[in-house]
Parts: sequence; C-alpha cells; structure tokens
Amino acid sequence: MAATVIDGKTFAARVRGQVATHVAGLREQGLQPGLAVVLVGMDPASQVYVKNKHASTVEVGMASFEHRLPADTSEADLLALVAALNADPKVHGILVQLPLPSHLNSELLINAIDPAKDVDGFHISNVGLLGTGQKSMVPCTPLGCLMMLRDHHGSLAGMSAVVVGRSNIVGKPMAQLLLGDSCTVTVAHSRTRDLAAVCRGADILVAAVGRPEMITGNMVKPGATVIDVGINRVMRDGKMRLVGDVDYASAAAVAGAITPVPGGVGPMTIACLLANTVTACCRANGLAEPEGLTS
Ligand code: NAP
Repeated sequence: MAATVIDGKTFAARVRGQVATHVAGLREQGLQPGLAVVLVGMDPASQVYVKNKHASTVEVGMASFEHRLPADTSEADLLALVAALNADPKVHGILVQLPLPSHLNSELLINAIDPAKDVDGFHISNVGLLGTGQKSMVPCTPLGCLMMLRDHHGSLAGMSAVVVGRSNIVGKPMAQLLLGDSCTVTVAHSRTRDLAAVCRGADILVAAVGRPEMITGNMVKPGATVIDVGINRVMRDGKMRLVGDVDYASAAAVAGAITPVPGGVGPMTIACLLANTVTACCRANGLAEPEGLTS
C-alpha cells in the first residue's frame, strides 16, 4: 500500500493560522508579539531565509525587526545589538541567523541572547531545560517534526524512534523531544555500525544527515513513519532540484507515512518560529500560552 504523505505545507498553513488568531487576540489587549532577526553578511541562502521569515512574521500580524549587518561586523558590536534587543520590550523573540562569519563566535553570541527570547532554542539554558524535561524554548525544526508526528499518530508512547544525525540544532533536540513523548530512542551518526539494520528497527525514522537521498527503502521498516529533515540542492537533468536525505521513491514504497521534500519539514520550521515568538510574548506578559503550539 502506498505511504500516506504527511503534508507539511498544509499543516504549516494551519499552524500559521492558529498563530495569527493568537496574535489578533493579543493585539486586542494592546500587545503585539515582535521578532527580531539579525543577519550578518551576505550569505545567499541566509538572505532568502531572513526574507521569508520577515514576510511570514508580518503575515501573521507580528512586528518584524530586521537587522542586516556587514560581514566584518565586530563581536563587540554584535553583542551590543543583542543586549539592546534583550532590553527592548517590543522584541519577544531574537534570532541570530546562522552560520555567522568565521571571525564571530556563534556559541558566545547565541548564549548572549536572553533565554526567554531565544526563539531558536539554541541557548545553553534552553538546551538544559529541554534535556531535563522542563519548560523551554524548543528548536523550531525538531518541534515541527514532533507536531507532525503527534498529529499523525496521536500518542507516540512506546514507539521505537531512530534519529539519524546528532547535530545540536536537529538530531539531539529531536531525540530529546521523542524521549519526552516516551519513545524508545536511538541516535545514529557517521560512526554507527550497520546503519541499515538500526534504521530498520524504527517505527519512527527521522533523517537529519545532510546527505542527498542517503536513506533508502531497504533501510525502512514496513509501515514506519519517515520524517525527512534534509534539504539538499542537487543538479538533476540539467536543473537544480531540492531533495531530502531520504530516497523518496524507494522509502515511500515501504513506509506507512512519509514527509516529502520540498513541502514536508521545511514549511513547519518557520511556522514553529512564529509559534515560539507568540509563546515567548505570552510568557513575558504572564499570559496563558497558546494550546498545542508548544511542546
Ligand atoms: P549536520 O550538522 O551536518 O549533522 C549531520 C549529522 O549527520 C551528523 O551528526 C553526522 O554524524 C551525521 N551523518 C553524516 N553522514 C552520515 C552517514 N553516512 N551515516 C550516518 N550519519 C551521518 O547537519 P544538520 O544541521 O543537523 O542538518 C541535517 C539536514 O537537515 C541537512 O540536510 C540540513 O540542510 C537539513 N536541515 C533542514 C532544516 C529545515 O528547516 N527543514 C533545518 C535544519 C537543517 P557525525 O556527528 O558522526 O559527523
């Protein structure tokens, strides 16, 4: 039987709609959630991401503050901007677009963000809170994956989950979230022995590897749910195409459900960024958090 396609585009539109409703309610109380995005340098992919974030922020009725700085911006100047944004009551979420130019220390700058405004969830305090099962800001991409999994399965308790990839921004927080939902979690990486056999044990298989179409159908347990986080640009038939870390055709022939690329995890990432910003605004003002939009 053909796998169910988990449509991230439609799901993300629904989440953005929920966010817009919450924003409208907050604005009636005289509160407008605000997101500040800081971009240093001219990295083309980052410029596209920042432009999309601005458009999505405005679309749901939030305030968008964009700070575009030259590539040679000093660490001191960037730290001063982060401090000013931390102190600004109109700003509820702060995102420093990564990667930063190599002369800047990303960890130092991310950890300079007020954890309550760290809508990317990368601050060491939020990492610790997530790891200990406490209320935190959850990284947007894994949060989007979790929301889609919960929507598809209801309870995830007792399911066997394999996350391929152990990065701080995707693999590790994804594993923590699945553990928090009572999955039995395995984290695989480049040194994992017999990756195919490990993957075949998964009821939920999350691929966050950064290698085009590496996860093939023979690595998927029949009926499993496959979440493809990968975004890879490859030349195919003379055209640039986006593909995931999963070989879609062979995996979809075996899986029970699968996210496509594009149109799967990608759209959920920005939707979750907006959701995190609303949550941050509510927390900052002692208001109830929006139901279902945060972990
Ligand atoms: P990353 O930091 O490069 O991490 C990749 C992980 O994959 C590492 O842990 C690495 O293992 C592991 N890996 C590499 N080759 C492997 C192999 N042959 N077998 C098993 N594991 C292997 O990447 P990332 O930032 O987590 O991103 C992963 C993917 O998600 C990329 O395609 C990225 O573009 C995409 N992404 C998408 C979104 C979105 O919004 N949809 C957001 C973020 C990232 P080691 O640790 O052992 O090296």
